[in-house]
Amino acid sequence: MKYKYIDLHLHLDGAITPKIAKKLIKLQNLKYTKNRFKLKKLIVAPKNCKNLNDFLKCFELPCDLLQTKEAIKTAVILLLKNLKKQNVIYSEIRFAPQKHTLKGLSQEQAVLAALEGLKEANKNEEIKSNLILCLMRGKNNEKENFETVELAEKYLVKENGITAIDLAGAEGLYKTEKFEKFFKKANEYNIPFTIHAGEADNYKSVLTAVNFKAVRIGHGIKAAENEETLKILKEKNICLEICPTSNIITNAFNKEKGYPFKLLYSYGIKLTVNTDDPAIENTDIAKEFKYLKKNFNLTKKDILGLLNNAIDFAFTGKEQKEKLKYIFKEF
Ligand SMILES: [Zn+2]
Repeated sequence: MKYKYIDLHLHLDGAITPKIAKKLIKLQNLKYTKNRFKLKKLIVAPKNCKNLNDFLKCFELPCDLLQTKEAIKTAVILLLKNLKKQNVIYSEIRFAPQKHTLKGLSQEQAVLAALEGLKEANKNEEIKSNLILCLMRGKNNEKENFETVELAEKYLVKENGITAIDLAGAEGLYKTEKFEKFFKKANEYNIPFTIHAGEADNYKSVLTAVNFKAVRIGHGIKAAENEETLKILKEKNICLEICPTSNIITNAFNKEKGYPFKLLYSYGIKLTVNTDDPAIENTDIAKEFKYLKKNFNLTKKDILGLLNNAIDFAFTGKEQKEKLKYIFKEF
């Protein structure tokens, strides 16, 4: 039986496959190789990255290819087309507008281009995918992060558009606690948000994100290190967007102890399964479920439970959720 899927944690720049890259190169008449094999070498991360730099390097080409309105719009359309082929019927694509301003676009132009792509791809779909705007961890980008929050406020909708914000980037270098002011503002504006936390940094980062009132946490697997954190996540009904392959590649967990799926799952933490950067990690949502099924003996009931969590915690409108519930009841 073929499953239908949902992916709530998926980065646009991490989803530029060699095939999409080739199209973007042609579209912009850029001087990169158009050889699929060479593109693959540039984009797909080594199976076990020696260090984070090895991994981050893979974002350089995709980022370069996403610096014009047409390229961003096209990339969103092609990505959603790919997802449809992979039976992903609802997804939330995230990107940081400030990473698309290298050739003169404003953040707002980048946002509008992505929105155009989304609307085009959603046009004939009953279930409408959405966009999440990422703020970036870093230094000297306070102005840019505030601008992203303001843009989210300006374009925020319940469905078929921008429905939330996120915080992405090097968690180990730039602690979550430093970003409180942005999420205070997001709370003032009633912008829903998720935060990457407990991926490269420890469980305290997860607790900080919870204190900011994040309703979902990107990764969050380090919560497994601390019983109190698990208790709080459960009590507050906060969902972790887990991305197994990504965590394996970036060495985000202790390999001897193993991936903490079972611990989180049996504790009763709400989990969703996601791809993070499918092109760079050479994965797709079916592979992520396959990994969990193989290593943790997931049953069909478990899989449906995880997909239902994704519906419950999706940043989309009530009607869309009801439609999704209906579809997932059917199979
Ligand atoms: Zn991510």
